Amino acid sequence: MSLLRFADLDLSAPMLATLEGIGYVQPTPVQATAIPLIAAGRDLMVQSQTGTGKTAAFGIPLIERLSAEPTRGIQALILAPTRELAKQVSDELNRLSSSPAVQSVAIYGGASMDKQIAEIKFANIVAGTPGRVLDHLRRGTLKFSGMRMVVLDEADEMLSLGFARELEQVMSFVPTDRQTLLFSATIPEDIKSYAQRYMRQPEFVSLIEQNVAADDVEHHYYMVSGVGRSKDLVQVIEYEEPGNSIVFTNTRADSEMVATFLKRQGYQAEFLNGDLPQRDREAIMARTKDKSLRFLVATDIAARGIDISQLSHVINFTLPESPEVYIHRTGRTGRAGHKGTAISLIGPREIGVYYYLKRIYKVALQERSVPTQAEIDLRKAERRTDALVQEIFSTRAGQPLAGAEVRAQAVRLMERDDAIEVVEALLGHFRDRGAPTSAPTPPGRPAAGGVLASVPVSETVAPGGRPVTLAGVAERVAIVQSEFRGLPGGSTTQPNRPDRRRDRDEAPAPPAPATPRPAETPLRALPPGQSRLWVSLGARDDIEADALRTGLADLAGLDVEDLLEVDRRLRHSYVVVPSDYAQDVIEAVDGERLGGKRIRVELAKEEA
Ligand code: AMP
Repeated sequence: MSLLRFADLDLSAPMLATLEGIGYVQPTPVQATAIPLIAAGRDLMVQSQTGTGKTAAFGIPLIERLSAEPTRGIQALILAPTRELAKQVSDELNRLSSSPAVQSVAIYGGASMDKQIAEIKFANIVAGTPGRVLDHLRRGTLKFSGMRMVVLDEADEMLSLGFARELEQVMSFVPTDRQTLLFSATIPEDIKSYAQRYMRQPEFVSLIEQNVAADDVEHHYYMVSGVGRSKDLVQVIEYEEPGNSIVFTNTRADSEMVATFLKRQGYQAEFLNGDLPQRDREAIMARTKDKSLRFLVATDIAARGIDISQLSHVINFTLPESPEVYIHRTGRTGRAGHKGTAISLIGPREIGVYYYLKRIYKVALQERSVPTQAEIDLRKAERRTDALVQEIFSTRAGQPLAGAEVRAQAVRLMERDDAIEVVEALLGHFRDRGAPTSAPTPPGRPAAGGVLASVPVSETVAPGGRPVTLAGVAERVAIVQSEFRGLPGGSTTQPNRPDRRRDRDEAPAPPAPATPRPAETPLRALPPGQSRLWVSLGARDDIEADALRTGLADLAGLDVEDLLEVDRRLRHSYVVVPSDYAQDVIEAVDGERLGGKRIRVELAKEEA
């Protein structure tokens, strides 16, 4: 980021006041580089992406020049590939001009010719699409005899949209004694030849170094078969949960189809294409800008030049046919220091572009596989847990941490076999916000009020508010869980991991983590071919050893004799089965109910 200020660029006082008024504090890099060169009258070829502030880069010196010597008639022309860009450029120029004598008009197809003719009479600058500008020139309703500056904006895009012929014809109307500027995100050969034809010893400015793709963009891609692509898209959306996004398609038909499909799946989505009346297009764009529309589905042509800042995601429903277009598309996210993500579905036909992007453009594409429903569900559950932990922590923000006693209690809680039930109870209280801690607890569960009663109550608790002790304990439950398992601080609530169950049994909750736990009856070594399973039911669950044995055999679909040994302990049991059956037993029994309780089964730790 440039440290220059606009005041360092030798601008007039009215311009500085205007820039301050519209909130431009510092020039962007393209502005810092281009403004002095343009002001000095140089022809310039600038490689920069959309969203970098390139309009003001030429707009500021242009307005400065025209304001210094206002004359009637059109003195500047900006050619743009789409009507949206033409309109956007014209609006930006009018914002930059504080003088009624310097005005811009946008000229594009699909709008009233007569209105444009009337507006041209009062304008000094025309921002237009090549076709409509040519129309006016041929009708004589637009005259370029006083032309001082021509800007070819998004020149590569104008060529790739097939405007080469119109562009040439328009240029034939422009006097040669002028300043010419060319802005383009990519500089392929045909752009270079334009520069040679229309420019005088142009200065070349590239604000893109080795990597043309925006730095703050992560690029993910999913290889898909191409069949059922819309369904794959929905799976990816469910998994990645993108925010406001543009979904690019290669054809109009696809944009309609994808928007309709997304809508049917309950998403806010609209397609944008040239067939829509201007009013509808503007309404859709306004919804995209104010972020009330989540997915704007568009072809490149429809989306070009639309100024939508801070899109969190750009999604390629299909990869474009040229890598340059990929760069354009993905340049719409990761703007102005924000992080962005580009997601692409890549089918077999698009592999060529994919290699090109990787090799030539050095885009760091990360492969991901289309998630299964189970992976999506897991991800959603993780997000809910993260949100809950955030919520718990936020209620404690700014409050002093409670002392060592609370931490020791939390550690003891986590050591208990019923730690999950305790956390459940705490969360219940947390959700109830202010429910009395002495609320009756289900039989067989520890009285939460009892656990919490001894936790010091902060003096800062608001009367009637949620008891701060609950949040405090819940917070520490999360912290201690992570510390206890040697996990990084961030990964918190994942109760019920097998490593915690391994070596504790009949003893009451141990006093502190550092204290060695009472030894449990050692497990005998098993002969080859046998496996030991850990089952979450034990004697305290009021289940007899026989009932446990027959119950497990029933659930597993095995004969009782296949359970070679059932070692019932206080809080859990060990069951020995032939190794061949071990995995099947786990799959059949884990999560089922026995004796009125849901049970968990897995390989005992030493087997795992
Ligand atoms: P552009 O690349 O011209 O489409 O500009 C992208 C966006 O950046 C537009 O919304 C401009 O209004 C905004 N912008 C341009 N220059 C500046 C600046 N110096 N400071 C803040 N915003 C700017």
